Amino acid sequence: MQAETPEDAHKNAHLDTETLIVGGGLCGLHTSFELGKRGRSHMIVEARRRLGGRILSRRLSSPSGQEVGFDLGPAWFWPGQRRMERLIVELGLEADVVKQFGDGDALFEDAAGQVRRGLFGIAMLGSYRLRGGMAQLIEALAQTLPSSSIRLGWTAESITWQGEMQSEAPLQVTLQSEDGPRIVTCHQLVLALPPRLAQQRLRFEPPATPALAEALRATPTWMAGQGKLVALYERPFWRSRGLSGDAISQRGPLGEVHDISPSMDPEGRNGPGALFGFFALPPSQRQAVEKEALERACIAQLARLFGTEASQPTQVWLKDWAFDPRTATDDDRQHMAPHAEHDLMLPEDDPWQQRILWSGSETASAAQRNNGYLEGALEASERTLRRLLG
Ligand SMILES: Cc1cc2nc3c(=O)[nH]c(=O)nc-3n(C[C@H](O)[C@H](O)[C@H](O)COP(=O)(O)OP(=O)(O)OC[C@H]3O[C@@H](n4cnc5c(N)ncnc54)[C@H](O)[C@@H]3O)c2cc1C
Repeated sequence: MQAETPEDAHKNAHLDTETLIVGGGLCGLHTSFELGKRGRSHMIVEARRRLGGRILSRRLSSPSGQEVGFDLGPAWFWPGQRRMERLIVELGLEADVVKQFGDGDALFEDAAGQVRRGLFGIAMLGSYRLRGGMAQLIEALAQTLPSSSIRLGWTAESITWQGEMQSEAPLQVTLQSEDGPRIVTCHQLVLALPPRLAQQRLRFEPPATPALAEALRATPTWMAGQGKLVALYERPFWRSRGLSGDAISQRGPLGEVHDISPSMDPEGRNGPGALFGFFALPPSQRQAVEKEALERACIAQLARLFGTEASQPTQVWLKDWAFDPRTATDDDRQHMAPHAEHDLMLPEDDPWQQRILWSGSETASAAQRNNGYLEGALEASERTLRRLLG
């Protein structure tokens, strides 16, 4: 997006829209996509300068000229996640679905650094990825939306109920953009972001009740305390040694490693090859180390596991979500919480509970095990659309 001209800035200072969606991750974009298909007027604001939220992929052209991607956020979806499957088909991305590689032995590293190989059952076998990375999904969705409906770099800061606190009274959302403050008045407001961010970063006027604030704060944001390291190689050399690329480690810094090479060739002849790992080190210990030192420690670990060839990656990417204020809060850095076991229950006597459409993956069904997942982002969007369109 280009910088605003003074005329644009003036025009944009105060805008009106029927529906405002805050958050341009998978959930908010899907809601925008479905509203767009029905010609419903809306606007989507995203605090980052890019779309996708927790979806973040590094893209490259492979030697065969194919566009390939490596995920620093979510990579997998699973058979039976029908919303993900349906969306991928609708956007014409079926040919880019690849199965997670998992043939061969896994590795296990104990706390003393002893490495054993065997069938440790940690492979994500059966899961799927997108060859171009999950960002392919975001790009395909974004291409369907008129750029006039998307505002990047606009951060919602406060929400004010206009006039009487009645359901039909409009809401005024104050945002900060690089070009100054913005006000958007809307009739329907969708918060497509983690509940903890809504509680910590948005000011409600009149204030939300303590019970509502506590319910939002108590809902952990899935994987917000995690980080991911991707190491890229010319080819997936471990496969020709009968290794799947899966490893678990009690020594760290990575606790779990997987193969995310785009090719499925079991001999690993086609490049590029890539390994990624989740951290075993908690956020506080990761923060205490320089990023470069942490990367070096991870590559040294990959070399202990997969041999000296692993010490020479062509690229290394590290994304620590725990320190990204658009995803994580202090609570997410305290400990890595599992998926919430119960649905987000907001107190019914808080008027904000009724007035706002609370969306985002963390609001999806816990019983269906969708909350926190990509499938949950789509489930939440579908629920929101039923209210918006119903
Ligand atoms: C490392 C990692 C690995 C994961 N692996 C998987 C996996 O393999 N499979 C899977 O199914 N799921 C996985 N997940 C979870 C998956 O990423 C999420 O379920 C999904 O991306 C959530 O989408 P969302 O749109 O609900 O939220 P988000 O992607 O968090 O989007 C919320 C958006 O709101 C924006 N925002 C925040 N505050 C404001 C504000 N004040 N104003 C405007 N915009 C704002 C943010 O910038 C963001 O773009 C993983 C997550 C991480 C971090």
